[in-house]
Amino acid sequence: MKQKIKILHLEDTPTDAELIERELKKGKINFEKLVVSNKIDFEKALKDFSPDVILSDHSLHSFDSHEALRMVKKAGITIPFILVTATMTDEFAVTVMKEGAHDYIIKDRLHRLPSAIINSIEKHHLEEERQAEHERLVFHIENAPLGFIEWDHRGFAKSWSIRAEEIFGWSGKEFIENQENGFTRVYEEDLPWVSKILEQLISGEVERNKVQYRNITKDGRVIWCEWFNSVLKGKDGKVKTIMSLVQDITEQKQLERHKDNFFDIVSHELKTPLTTIKAYGQIAESMLEAKGDAGTLGMIKKMGSQVNKLTALVQDFLDFTKIQNGKLIYNEAFFDFNELVEEVIDDMQKISVTHEIKNNSGKTAAIFGDKDKFSQVLNNLISNAIKYSPKAGSIIISTQLQKDSIELSVQDFGIGILAQNQQSVFEQFYRVNEGNQPTFPGMGIGLYICSEIISRHSGKIWVESSIGKGSIFYIWLPFDHRNKTT
Ligand code: ADP
Repeated sequence: MKQKIKILHLEDTPTDAELIERELKKGKINFEKLVVSNKIDFEKALKDFSPDVILSDHSLHSFDSHEALRMVKKAGITIPFILVTATMTDEFAVTVMKEGAHDYIIKDRLHRLPSAIINSIEKHHLEEERQAEHERLVFHIENAPLGFIEWDHRGFAKSWSIRAEEIFGWSGKEFIENQENGFTRVYEEDLPWVSKILEQLISGEVERNKVQYRNITKDGRVIWCEWFNSVLKGKDGKVKTIMSLVQDITEQKQLERHKDNFFDIVSHELKTPLTTIKAYGQIAESMLEAKGDAGTLGMIKKMGSQVNKLTALVQDFLDFTKIQNGKLIYNEAFFDFNELVEEVIDDMQKISVTHEIKNNSGKTAAIFGDKDKFSQVLNNLISNAIKYSPKAGSIIISTQLQKDSIELSVQDFGIGILAQNQQSVFEQFYRVNEGNQPTFPGMGIGLYICSEIISRHSGKIWVESSIGKGSIFYIWLPFDHRNKTT
């Protein structure tokens, strides 16, 4: 130890004090020593000398080591206290160690003293560091915006931070003493599925998860919480504890609901006038056809094509918000697949002057599902094929019958999609942005809706594509998804 050790020595026999000093010098200890022999000087030295270690004889004239230890403790001092005494019984040694002494040395074995001092100071430093680390951790836990809860291997609460108390209303003591487990305060409607998730954690089957569900507070309120759970396992692989970080997201959920309602209303309000404009447009088209006014008819047709685009956009928007809320309703029945493909191609060909949409259908099949939703999927795929192939002149739609399923493909000869982006195009709001690619208008939700609709029918959607050559979007659908589990 390079630093000078400050030793406070409680001893009233000067020769013993000298002997000890000599032993310390022999042990090559770099020290500064203050010898005191009564209670008043000892108390003063504790304050003014700031020792690193205390050496204490057991019995002095007016004072003893028990009392000295009590004074040290009372002053909140945690430095090593080593008893250096002439005689010592085993019982006495046990008593002083229990009272808080760190070590004891018999005066006729003083050669042990230097190493005892060094060891006890090192141990004390380690303990201080551990304590500081613990305090830092507790500080972060208590000041984090998230509540921290630790559960035992059965899911019973072991510790509960102040923030958790603020969220749920129970103090840690109340919750822990009531032997509450993670299931007890889950909102009844959420309990069936939440139980499964919590059991997976308790069994160790799942080691980490993030879930949102409703909880009940001490005063009976229902709140939305987001939980981040992780399982700590022992070396034997068994669950030791489960750590949870939790935050109250009730306000956020309310805002989301308001936003969704708002989008819902806006989309509906947009859809109604659009339907009327479309109907009047169709009437005007027939009247102009009858009149033979080709010029005006051309303009009305162009207007009709823009109205169709807008209608599809609003429909996507409406469906998107419904998917988000789990409110998209499917009206299912059997329908002829190729017939639907033909209808959509005819409709789209009418409004596309730039591309020829070729129909390469094979044998047809009756499919059980929501016909309108499939028509929307096809509409989206063909619109994309047209939009992302501005320099090409054709799109090819093919269907191919399989044993109990049908496959459809929409092929374009456009810009293509890089391999690393091909999976992401089905994610919400994802739009390829390669910098060198010209920008195309869009919201990045069309393919997400397609993939939702297809997976609801137990089907698959994927893309094969090569940059500059074009893309083929595929859909695979079972005849009747009610027989499928996925
Ligand atoms: P949007 O077209 O409105 O951006 P989509 O969800 O329909 O949204 O498509 C997501 C992204 O996938 C598009 O932004 C585009 O980058 C890419 N993409 C979709 N279809 C094609 C296609 N046929 N060719 C090339 N890229 C495409």
